[in-house]
Amino acid sequence: QPIDDVIPNEIIAEQNYPSLSQCLYQIHRPSLGEGLHNDIGLLKEQQHPAQQRLAFEELLAHQLAMRVKQHERQYEQAPDIKLSTTLQAACLKQLPFALTHAQQKVVAQINKDLQKKHPALRLIQGDVGSGKTIVALLAALPIIENGYQVAVMAPTELLALQHYEKFQEWLTPLKIPVAHLSSSTKAKDRRSILQALENNNIKMVVGTHALFQDDVEFNSLALLIVDEQHRFGVDQRLALRKKGQNAHNDISPHQITLTATPIPRTLAMTMYADMDYSVIDELPPGRTAIKTVVIAQEKRADIIERIRHACAEGKQTYWVCPLISESETLQCETAEDTFGLLKEQLADINIGLVHGRMKPKEKAAAMQAFKNNETQILVATTVIEVGVDVPNASLMMIENAERLGLAQLHQLRGRVGRGSTASSCVLMYKSPLSQKAKHRLDTMRATQDGFKIAEEDLKMRGAGELFGTRQTGDNGFRVADVFRDVHLLPEIEAAADIMHEQYPENSKRLINRWLGLRQQYHQT
Ligand code: ADP
Ligand code: MG
Repeated sequence: QPIDDVIPNEIIAEQNYPSLSQCLYQIHRPSLGEGLHNDIGLLKEQQHPAQQRLAFEELLAHQLAMRVKQHERQYEQAPDIKLSTTLQAACLKQLPFALTHAQQKVVAQINKDLQKKHPALRLIQGDVGSGKTIVALLAALPIIENGYQVAVMAPTELLALQHYEKFQEWLTPLKIPVAHLSSSTKAKDRRSILQALENNNIKMVVGTHALFQDDVEFNSLALLIVDEQHRFGVDQRLALRKKGQNAHNDISPHQITLTATPIPRTLAMTMYADMDYSVIDELPPGRTAIKTVVIAQEKRADIIERIRHACAEGKQTYWVCPLISESETLQCETAEDTFGLLKEQLADINIGLVHGRMKPKEKAAAMQAFKNNETQILVATTVIEVGVDVPNASLMMIENAERLGLAQLHQLRGRVGRGSTASSCVLMYKSPLSQKAKHRLDTMRATQDGFKIAEEDLKMRGAGELFGTRQTGDNGFRVADVFRDVHLLPEIEAAADIMHEQYPENSKRLINRWLGLRQQYHQT
């Protein structure tokens, strides 16, 4: 049975691609000739025209699917918001700082979104420390002022708690109650929060995936804020989207996603073509550059002395250990061992410990003690990687830095340099360093610019890793690789315009061919 070309000829001819059946034939029965006809060489490099055509098809299918979703949103009804900025003004007045221009710009974009008839779907990208949290809160205020509800989702319990505390601090003076739902919320408290959400007595709730559970019913959810989306699995994102649909009134909430993952613009347009895109491209004033040094772990004793001095000066330190337990294959230092060692060597300094195997309550207590400067050193695993905000901490030690990817190192380093004291980051490594690891550490030393780091990352790794998904294949491509095939993107955009406008039937078939049931996946 011949496979039909659902991409119109005018597009295929433009690209000079072989027909689809030729493509499949060439991939399965490569010729062994010389030069141009040496299929094997090109196939190995994924540069064979047959492969390029398949990648083109697949990326085009994704692009079209996102356009369909975007189009469908035009038929969904958004909550009816009369923009009033009384609460925003009151909130800004009580802040100890003024918004940066970049923050103001994004808040203005969001205010516009909120008045639209159709639900907005906006991705807000801002490097670590650019101040996304306050922007999220300001987005919530007009919603609350209009009597609607807001849900805020964080990827970890630690972050949810931190957001909750921050929002509470900002909202209490405005007399707006905030609720916090987590897996450790007591059954009785949970029941009363759920009741209040159903009755519209609570306007804002912060939580993790606990917000997905079936028994959570909103009265009038009008805005969903998702922090650090890439940490959520695809299934969760889908559930979230469904939850947002208000059962009784046919209204779909607006959605704002915050991410610190710097995404080069061309890629963002492809990966998130169905979303509007804002960048907070400015850090708050007064931030000092973080001095980054790379040190072999044999020098640990020197480093410990250095921390002793830093503590004496009133500074606080994170000490990050990538794994929590001794693993035979990886031989990493464990957080627990390090904790014990530091306690021994720095006996007169208060040291805390936080890792993923602790109970949420214990984690929260350890974070709180560090925030209150009751502990001066916090030994941690990478649980503190995303979003943790303790401005007084100015020293970041990372063990086994050679094992971590650039995105992760950048996130970790971003935990310091948040206050006005000069901050440093020490990347400890175990020799010998691989070429790649050396390049990563050099990159970290050379720049603090998230976009530059992302570009380097892009050169060195695959899409799945850059977007922090860890689960490979999570970006959902079978043959395409958005990084390798980045040169195809402009033509794919153009082809998508033509197909979406002029060939809706073919578009549908192409989407089905490549995405099938997974189409739902793009609803997020
Ligand atoms: P991120 O974008 O990484 O989530 P946060 O929202 O945690 O950053 O903000 C980092 C720190 O900067 C917080 O302590 C926050 O209160 C502070 N901050 C945010 N905006 C400003 C600003 N315009 N001026 C000064 N400090 C700010
Ligand atoms: Mg954050």
